[in-house]
Amino acid sequence: MAEPPADHSPHTVVAFHLDAAAERLALPDHTTELLRSSEREVQVQLPIERTDGSLSVYTGYRVQHNAARGPFKGGIRFHPDVDLEVVQGLASLMTYKCALVNIPFGGAKGAVRCPSHELDERERGRLARVLTRRLADVIGPERDIPAPDIGTDETTMAHMMDEWAHLMGPSPSIVTGKPLALGGTYGRREAVGRGLAQLFAFSAEDLGVPVEGARVAIQGFGKVGASAAVAFTRLGCRVVAVSDADTAVVAPDGGFELETLELAVAQGQPAGALPGEQLPREDLLAISCEVLIPAALGGAIHMGNVDGVDTRVILEGANAPVTLDAESVLLERGVQIVPDLLANAGGVVVSYFEWVQNLQHLHWDAGEVDERLGRTMRRAWGELAEAAELADPGSSRTLRQAAYDLGVGRVAQAMTLRRSG
Ligand code: GLU
Repeated sequence: MAEPPADHSPHTVVAFHLDAAAERLALPDHTTELLRSSEREVQVQLPIERTDGSLSVYTGYRVQHNAARGPFKGGIRFHPDVDLEVVQGLASLMTYKCALVNIPFGGAKGAVRCPSHELDERERGRLARVLTRRLADVIGPERDIPAPDIGTDETTMAHMMDEWAHLMGPSPSIVTGKPLALGGTYGRREAVGRGLAQLFAFSAEDLGVPVEGARVAIQGFGKVGASAAVAFTRLGCRVVAVSDADTAVVAPDGGFELETLELAVAQGQPAGALPGEQLPREDLLAISCEVLIPAALGGAIHMGNVDGVDTRVILEGANAPVTLDAESVLLERGVQIVPDLLANAGGVVVSYFEWVQNLQHLHWDAGEVDERLGRTMRRAWGELAEAAELADPGSSRTLRQAAYDLGVGRVAQAMTLRRSG
């Protein structure tokens, strides 16, 4: 097997896993070559008028990686640290993620390179609208369906949906992750956190850790981390520490109260508002726990901090939060890593449910969404655990390798059936 590359960009990392999977699966060279690049990459210029009357110009991207299994699907990120290569990597990750959880979508990703934290609500709205206009030729309700990602939310999606309606006529299925009142679904906002908890409930026994009382540390207290904190506490785990970009907080008495977490989520409070001992934010990764959930940016666990990590299981809430070299160290120490491809797939799974409801003009209740998410995660975990031969201590495939084998294998099969790869 090839040596892991030193470059940790999502593009390099996903390409490395693709090549390794292609070798294990003995894919034809032309299929692998097609999967190494994207079906279409669009770069657009986005001028917006700032609130002070000046003009700013940002760069936007939409990368449509592969649509062999269905329309392109993936979030739109507003962040200063994105470029075409990052978006390429994240788009291909979406292709394999959708295939692994077996929903009928291909993979895409979009981004705007901008100082998202410096933009006010109205500036962000204008940006979402100009982006929709510039991408109008390539997105569409049955073609490419955007969703929220880092730096974007349901308000961003409402702007995109409205702009699309002005351009092309009304269609709620043009975006997912919309507000409930505009045809959004129950449970989309909390979907990644809920999916992580459901996945843990189904996998804990196979992973050799208890659910009841398991100590959980969560890096990131945004959409994913905060809803995960609530969902894991409801499951009977103890959330012993959380962190955000400013601080880490260790819970008093071995776990935050459910009501405290629910209130923090409802009010969108930062981690520092929780009661407990405050530590520098990097200390979160060294908290002793059974389950560590990196739910912030990619590359969070790397060679510089991996030695301090003190957990038995890592559930990847973020995309690509563990660098390849740090992963080797953790696997060597017997830490189980449940890969992003499955761990954070709750978001796109519930996006799929939203899209299905929109196409049928139906509205499912919260129980139905949750139950279907659980069923999807349970099935995907069963398939992954079997592929990784988790029960066999001599298994030669990690969970990540097995996840890529399943995801890449399904995409390759669809390409072959279409005679397109
Ligand atoms: N941005 C999310 C992800 O990375 C969700 C994408 C979607 O719902 O389409 O999986």
